[in-house]
Amino acid sequence: MRLTIIGGGIAGLSAAYYASLTNYYSQITLLESDSRWGGKIATERIPFDDGQFIIEGGPDTFLATKPWGVALCKELGLGERLHGTNPHKKNTYVLHKGRLLPLPDGLAMMIPSDVPSILRSRLLTWTGKARMGLDFVLPAKHVNGDESLGAFISRRLGREAYENLIEPLMSGIYAGDGDRLSLASTFPYLRDLELKHGSLARGALKMRQQSNGKAPGSRSAFLTPTTGLAEIVEALVESLKSKVELRLNTRVLKITNLQLPITNYQLDLETGETLSTDALILATPAFISAQLLASFDPELASALQSIPYASTATVSLAYRLSDLPRGLDGYGYVIPRREGRNALACTWTSTKFPHRAPEGYALIRVFIGRAGQDIPWNENDLLALSREEMKLTLGITAEPLLSRVFMWENAMPQYNLGHPEILKRIDAALEKYPSLALAGSGYRGIGIPDCIHSGELAVEKVTRDCKVFGDLAEQNNFRVTNG
Ligand SMILES: Cc1cc2nc3c(=O)[nH]c(=O)nc-3n(C[C@H](O)[C@H](O)[C@H](O)COP(=O)(O)OP(=O)(O)OC[C@H]3O[C@@H](n4cnc5c(N)ncnc54)[C@H](O)[C@@H]3O)c2cc1C
Repeated sequence: MRLTIIGGGIAGLSAAYYASLTNYYSQITLLESDSRWGGKIATERIPFDDGQFIIEGGPDTFLATKPWGVALCKELGLGERLHGTNPHKKNTYVLHKGRLLPLPDGLAMMIPSDVPSILRSRLLTWTGKARMGLDFVLPAKHVNGDESLGAFISRRLGREAYENLIEPLMSGIYAGDGDRLSLASTFPYLRDLELKHGSLARGALKMRQQSNGKAPGSRSAFLTPTTGLAEIVEALVESLKSKVELRLNTRVLKITNLQLPITNYQLDLETGETLSTDALILATPAFISAQLLASFDPELASALQSIPYASTATVSLAYRLSDLPRGLDGYGYVIPRREGRNALACTWTSTKFPHRAPEGYALIRVFIGRAGQDIPWNENDLLALSREEMKLTLGITAEPLLSRVFMWENAMPQYNLGHPEILKRIDAALEKYPSLALAGSGYRGIGIPDCIHSGELAVEKVTRDCKVFGDLAEQNNFRVTNG
């Protein structure tokens, strides 16, 4: 059996890795349109002075509590190279009416659970704080179906808490509009907290107590390898070299499904070649998968096409520490949508991960663009906008020593209301095609661990289907490609 995987981001690379472990396929091919592996994972290491700047253009860390990221890193021999965030300077700020105010302590899964800290916070008015307190007494509501994240948080904690606290935190993950994002597809555990504990804050407190009770030395919630997330990509490529045909600069233009006794797919490549494969995993963004599959299943293509994506950009700026008017005493700040800024967050990278800048220098990353907001779309304007943000909020007027702009067009899938129904349509359509699977951030989790897991699940599906259909075909004396 031959397996082909399209898309060499973390999901496609992971799929190739887990497929190579099965020893089932006679041939595994991974096709990537770009000239490098990793997709949204884009690390640049820039030697400077006696050290180096480690700049992440896309993701800069992954969640340790979802097990698939840590597990893969350990298998690849990277376990000892994973670092947590700086435990000594953990402040996070929220931009509020143009000023940085600290985020209250005791956030558990985005929900504040430390009442004294909320009472002290200047991010909320007394009316807003009183409204939050109602969370302790409001009964759990039995909602039929899904609701938006914004509606849910506003119903439990009040609109002010949503706009000033929760929305900016959530934005940093999805770059989304909370009034459109599906609660069921983004933060389903929040609904579980309501139903189980009758109150978000009570549930969050319980979880905080449980995690505090864990063995001392338990690691940071966020991890990254020493010289950036590209280490995972590099280790994957290294381990695949001898087992998988790895092809960069190879864009797939179209897929045709030949209805043989065993499904067989033909891939038209931009190079002019046609490839034939028995099993196929598409680890491309949903709208690309839609184009590729359109000729043989318009219904599946239309479901895939209906998943919207938001465009974002990151701008990394390096300074001498002596050029900064204020110390960077934390991980950075988030910017609520209501502040009307183009930026949605600013990470103080060299404080969050001290090894990412040489001694005496600071690295700052501005995250720009969110769903429903137009941003200028060229490097110069994005750089100018970031420098303006530095000046307005941090008072930095110095020329950066170096800067890097990464533009990510249609990069962040938006799990809006209706997303669970889209997934049902996709799953129903896929049932018709044994040995075809989808992987990647477009469906059931946008974070790196989720994408890794999606690659693993896709391999499980196609391998199971291939075995069943391969056996059936053999019993019926149909031709089966050697496997
Ligand atoms: C700015 C930014 C910050 C983020 N921060 C974090 C973070 O801190 N932590 C975290 O966990 N997640 C973060 N994410 C999300 C996470 O990075 C992505 O969800 C994840 O990397 C997506 O992986 P993927 O393999 O699904 O898709 P991609 O990385 O998009 O890979 C898809 C690949 O398919 C290729 N391709 C497309 N069309 C074709 C074709 N026709 N033929 C062949 N190949 C094709 C593309 O070139 C690409 O390499 C961030 C994302 C962005 C954009």
